[in-house]
Amino acid sequence: MFTRIIRGEIPADVVAETDRVLAVTDINPQAAVHVVVFPKTGEYRDVSELAAAEPDLLAELVSVAKAVAAEKAGGEYRLIFNTGAGAGQTVFHVHAHVLAGNLEEKSLVG
Ligand code: 5GP
Repeated sequence: MFTRIIRGEIPADVVAETDRVLAVTDINPQAAVHVVVFPKTGEYRDVSELAAAEPDLLAELVSVAKAVAAEKAGGEYRLIFNTGAGAGQTVFHVHAHVLAGNLEEKSLVG
């Protein structure tokens, strides 16, 4: 699904982009600010695979998440990587959720 966004096959609200990373507004937001950040490559299912194979790409993803939160939420945010279906992961193309605003009652995304 994220691959289709990268290819422009389905529309998305792009909030940040680098050569290797894209950030888009989540289609089903769970907080006032809810952005998903993912590498343009779809070869990693989850954050553990990405960290093991390309730690620099994970660091770039986190850097983009920070920039999005700085712009949209004053720099204070929650960064969530759901890992595994049992933990609420539904898209197996590694992505981080950047959440900010009205988080008081929220402990999980899924
Ligand atoms: P997961 O449940 O795998 O951690 O997160 C997948 C996220 O992708 C969900 O928060 C879901 O709302 C979001 N999502 C699913 N389909 C689309 C889509 O077509 N566009 C966008 N922008 N987000 C999507």
